Amino acid sequence: MPFRVRKALSKQMINHRGLEFTQLLFDVTEKLKRVFQTKNDILIFPAAGTGAMEAAIVNLFSYGDRVLSVSVGTFGNRFAEIGKIFGLEVVRLQFPLGTAADLKKIKEVLSKEKNIKGVLLTHNETSTGVTNDLEAIASVIKEHDVLFIVDAESSLAAIEVKADEWGIDVTLAGSQKGWMAPPGLAMISVSPSAWEVVKKSTLPRYYWDFERAKAYYEKGQTPYTPAVSTIFALQEGLNMILEEGLPNVFSRHKEIAELTRNEVKKMGLKLFADERSASNTVTAVCLNKETPYNESPYIVDAKQFLKTLKDKYGIELAGGQGELSGKIFRIGHLGDVTKKDILDVIQAISSTIQST
Ligand SMILES: *Cc1c(COP(=O)(O)O)cnc(C)c1O
Repeated sequence: MPFRVRKALSKQMINHRGLEFTQLLFDVTEKLKRVFQTKNDILIFPAAGTGAMEAAIVNLFSYGDRVLSVSVGTFGNRFAEIGKIFGLEVVRLQFPLGTAADLKKIKEVLSKEKNIKGVLLTHNETSTGVTNDLEAIASVIKEHDVLFIVDAESSLAAIEVKADEWGIDVTLAGSQKGWMAPPGLAMISVSPSAWEVVKKSTLPRYYWDFERAKAYYEKGQTPYTPAVSTIFALQEGLNMILEEGLPNVFSRHKEIAELTRNEVKKMGLKLFADERSASNTVTAVCLNKETPYNESPYIVDAKQFLKTLKDKYGIELAGGQGELSGKIFRIGHLGDVTKKDILDVIQAISSTIQST
């Protein structure tokens, strides 16, 4: 986290039913709207990002509703799983790990399947470092009478999302991603058509109830105690993003991602994701020959590799999730990351691989 955000985090506590909090809540919400590129309502819940996913499901659907889940990895699968647990009939469209969703297949399924009420899509799949072509997918979905729900947790504030222009009904974000704030806040935009559906949907909800959250927002409050310090931090993250300017933020992430991919290739390592849809916020790299998708010239034990990077260089990288565990590692480059940081990481990876 940048120094400015850490400083905001250390502010004295305020009364969450008082005027100061109302000003904070309104300021943060208005600034969030500029980054989501929406005029719709945005609700903030104290939660991990997964809370935003569950909130979307329980507010928008009723038992037995049919939804289409478009998944390219762990987070897409999680969204489908949440739907299933709440009794939705989930039609699953899964694409191979490391690739993006195929527009033609989405088109096909949407015209073939009957009574689909909503589409669940991950914009940027953090587990594989793949970004779906949200604008193109949105234009296909627009032709159907369905709610479009986008998990944009690891893209918003780093990769452009035009929620209104692209017709996204519900957009999900989490404070620990591009916003440069600590974990703890789930942010959710809700379009007018989504509100119509919320009114009619019958899955049980209390904590996540959008209507209750909106009623309190109108009074400048939240229904229950908000994560005040994290909201202070988010406010400062937003100030920094808006001072830099959104186009600059997006192009900075793009440049840093390109630098990362080029340096990884220069080392002789293979990128995991199809480069045509490689993410600007996370780069997944193949680690060993067991990887079924690509062959790397190095055979490295993933656990030992990540431990050495941490112990010797103070660099924290992530391994693979689920079936990719031990097969890839991931370099995060969203938020407060510079080119120099990336070059340091590359140098450390290179030394670690040569010494193992
Ligand atoms: C981080 C993330 C989430 C939420 O994860 P939490 O651990 O619950 O905060 C959801 N979807 C994607 C794509 C993410 O990157």
